[in-house]
Amino acid sequence: MTVYRQWFCDCSGVPRELVSDPYVEEDSLEPSCPLCGASPSSDPKHTIRYTDQEDFSD
Ligand SMILES: [Zn+2]
Repeated sequence: MTVYRQWFCDCSGVPRELVSDPYVEEDSLEPSCPLCGASPSSDPKHTIRYTDQEDFSD
C-alpha cells in the first residue's frame, strides 16, 4: 500500500488540484496552482490544502 498526497488550492472557490511542471528541475519539483501559482511552500493566501490518498493496488 502506498499513501500519496494530493494537493488542492481553493483560490477560485472550487478545489483545484495542483499540477507539477514536468520541465522544472527535479530538486525544485513542487506542484503549484495553475490559477494563482500558490504551492505548498508558497501559500500567501492560505488556500492550499491536501488529502492523503491510499493506494491499495500494490
Ligand atoms: Zn490557486
